[in-house]
Amino acid sequence: MALKVQKFGGTSVADIERIKRVADRVTKSYDKGDKVVVVLSAMAGVTDKLIALAESASKVPDTRELDVLLATGEQTTAALLAMILKDRGYRSTSLLGFQAGIITDESAGKARILDIEADRIVKLLDEGHIVVVAGFQGRDVNGNITTLGRGGSDTSAVAIASAVKADVCEIFTDVDGVYTTDPRICSKARKINRISYEEMLEMAILGAKVLQIRSVEFAKKYNVPVHVRSSFNEEEGTMVINESADMESVVVSGVTCDKNETRITLKRVPDQPGVSAKIFGALADANIMVDMIIQNTRANGETDVTFTVTKTDFRKACEISEQVANKIGAAAVLTAENIAKVSVIGLGMKSNAGVAATMFKALASENINIILISTSEIRISCVIEEKYAELAVRVLHKAFGLDAE
Ligand code: ADP
Ligand code: ASP
Ligand code: MG
Repeated sequence: MALKVQKFGGTSVADIERIKRVADRVTKSYDKGDKVVVVLSAMAGVTDKLIALAESASKVPDTRELDVLLATGEQTTAALLAMILKDRGYRSTSLLGFQAGIITDESAGKARILDIEADRIVKLLDEGHIVVVAGFQGRDVNGNITTLGRGGSDTSAVAIASAVKADVCEIFTDVDGVYTTDPRICSKARKINRISYEEMLEMAILGAKVLQIRSVEFAKKYNVPVHVRSSFNEEEGTMVINESADMESVVVSGVTCDKNETRITLKRVPDQPGVSAKIFGALADANIMVDMIIQNTRANGETDVTFTVTKTDFRKACEISEQVANKIGAAAVLTAENIAKVSVIGLGMKSNAGVAATMFKALASENINIILISTSEIRISCVIEEKYAELAVRVLHKAFGLDAE
């Protein structure tokens, strides 16, 4: 007997047939004696449709109202599952984020969970209910509905698991677990049986969308065991857990690719103290997150500053860069939208030299030019032209011995 949080993603609840299969799965655990909280996403494609609808109603949809709209996707699936469960004779209650006590900050569209007042969930569980919570949403301190950013139902699930002290948070999705790289890009990707929070976090940050970044942060902080597995079969998936000694033996455990990056270069900025502070201060004031930064000064003293931002922030970042460039007397602003960041990740890098060299050699073997490089203790990332992204993933996957036989 266990206390489980079971989260089902968009493809797993894409239509009534699939929601019925979710009901089968959930009741199987319940019938065994488990207490179950189910967290659901909206049906696949629904959140995108709601965003399009909002954009057809308003040029720049009001963020508060957009959250009210987007939350309906998850409201629909939660209600449908609870209906099906009740029809089958189970006690079940659907709860929207605010009813489940999920309190967030006030950042509409990308709210962070601050606290979960889980009394209602716990009481319902004690009364024998299968509690069905609408993922991706909460309420802020003013009582407004908020959403948690794309893929946010993962975070709802992990946060609830931590609040109710669940034995496990199961993330049911459309792949069998976390793979060495996106199995849709590389057919030789292998399922990873166990992965550390740290590596999973890097993979999520660097583009593996199988878990939302914040869900992994949450799991790591509160030590929630996460089991990523398929909703279409009974196979064991991937356990995301604390690092253990044997994990270090693998140098590279995964390869990721992120096409959501753009590059901006300020050419010939004055080589003086305070110039970078002006550029990045202006971007920070506009709430723009900068990812990679490089600055190089040539022998003649000319300095270029290059950085990357997400595609969403690109236009705004260009405008700000032009303004700052004028103010500080930079020669020009150059931009590139069609870039991608490929990364290799592994705890074993901490104690292995030569990983970067292997990565650069592998990219060179396919004539792929490296535009930017950044490294941390457990990852190396290269920005390349977007058209080479998939090829780069496959070539790196092979170079680091990750290909399945
Ligand atoms: P859900 O709707 O269930 O939340 P997502 O689409 O958000 O599912 O995440 C699952 C998808 O993540 C997979 O279909 C896969 O294409 C993609 N993905 C990217 N990188 C990986 C990886 N390393 N391992 C597994 N899946 C990955
Ligand atoms: N429905 C939301 C999305 O599509 C949240 C989620 O599925 O996790 O991003
Ligand atoms: Mg997802």
